[in-house]
Amino acid sequence: MSVHLDEKVAPIYQEVLARNPGETEFHQAVREVLESLGPVLSKYPEFRDSKVIERICEPERQIIFRVPWLDDQNRIQVNRAFRVEFSSVLGPYKGGMRFHPSVYLGIIKFLGFEQIFKNSLTGLPIGGGKGGSDFDPKGKSDAEVMRFCQSFMTELYRHLGEHTDVPAGDIGVGARELGYMFGQYKRITNRYESGVLTGKGLNWGGSLVRKEATGYGATFFAQEMLKARGDSLEGKTCVVSGSGNVAIYTIEKVHQFGGKVVACSDSNGVIFHEKGIDLDLLKQLKEVERRRVKDYASYHKDAIFTENGNIWEIPCQVAFPSATQNEVNGKDAAKLVKNGCIAVSEGANMPTTPEGVEIFLEAKIAYGPAKAANAGGVATSALEMQQNASRDSWDFEYTEKRLQDIMMKIHRSAAETAEEFGTPGNLVNGANIAGFIRVAKAMLAMGVI
Ligand code: NDP
Repeated sequence: MSVHLDEKVAPIYQEVLARNPGETEFHQAVREVLESLGPVLSKYPEFRDSKVIERICEPERQIIFRVPWLDDQNRIQVNRAFRVEFSSVLGPYKGGMRFHPSVYLGIIKFLGFEQIFKNSLTGLPIGGGKGGSDFDPKGKSDAEVMRFCQSFMTELYRHLGEHTDVPAGDIGVGARELGYMFGQYKRITNRYESGVLTGKGLNWGGSLVRKEATGYGATFFAQEMLKARGDSLEGKTCVVSGSGNVAIYTIEKVHQFGGKVVACSDSNGVIFHEKGIDLDLLKQLKEVERRRVKDYASYHKDAIFTENGNIWEIPCQVAFPSATQNEVNGKDAAKLVKNGCIAVSEGANMPTTPEGVEIFLEAKIAYGPAKAANAGGVATSALEMQQNASRDSWDFEYTEKRLQDIMMKIHRSAAETAEEFGTPGNLVNGANIAGFIRVAKAMLAMGVI
């Protein structure tokens, strides 16, 4: 990493490395934010005096627990689960839960750390947290997933509450998993506490647009970045990695804006369909039948599946990384730029490596970092909490308009802050600084906590 760390923050970063050995993704997320904060400490010396950054880098609470469950053969299985409650200075801890075999403390901490600033950027009253488990839902029966979720919630419930900690979904956690978890929470607590989880089903307290929100939000963000450059998504060739919740609804909104998504992927490979991805088919395969993108090619003979292919080699004007962390490396970023990519809007969390980010920034393409571009999901979760608190439900148009307004405000705030701190067009700095300042001011107001 070649970006220089300001001398005021370098020792803080060294301390984070020493105190959190082996948590490489967490180190990466912290460093990326600290790289933006030198000028902020010069402008606000009180943040430095009151050790705001040192405090933010240490989670308020970390919970690690065992999840025992019985598989369909009646064998006992054991997983490890986490909830990292990072910051509650702006509201209850808020952030999703990830079920994926790669999950360990370092992943949950990187996600929780990012979540503090992302949630701050939304302007809504939500703190930052994240959770998950190394459980792999892939290939498990519904009954196994249910038993796992019930066991998971049997421990986690005591740490949750609508005013305390409000989880949602992430990789491997969708409507099915959230349903099982909510049911178990309700059963243990004997409370119908709608506001304790977001991403709920529409007939039991969920919000319209929540399912679509992260993908729609990342697309609204791309549209705002392009608008600022006198351009739009209309007629643009786009590539969206992944084929999960975020990817599917990014594709839907890009198509509504007149763009064409020609490729998507999963961890087995890439599907390229020059005519444009058939979204109804993709939804049927992924949302209903839980199949692989490979199967798409058996329905469209002109679509090409490449096993273990690299989606970033497909020429596009706008890229939406929407699968997982560090999926775009320096080489991929260089390839995208060389192939004429003019905008990148990150649906996934930290999908671009530091080398890749540097290439996008140097090329001066429109680059929307995750904590700004994918904040639509958590923002709509906060709108779900508002509806739950007032025992109301809003219609689709109104909720989508609220989401769009929030994404426009986040873009404006990141762009103006980047300008104010002397790096016009650098939305990485803009988002980090704008998100940080709101949290830091609240921490100062509340004393040493
Ligand atoms: P899903 O589980 O619905 O989909 C994830 C997709 O990414 C799948 O296609 C999956 O492929 C692929 N993927 C996951 N891990 C890997 C990997 N290690 N290598 C290659 N492909 C991988 O998750 P979401 O769509 O909800 O989440 C996608 C990203 O968006 C994550 O980074 C998440 O943190 C972020 N995000 C999600 C939000 C939400 O509201 N859901 C909110 C904000 C951010 P496969 O099926 O083969 O594993």
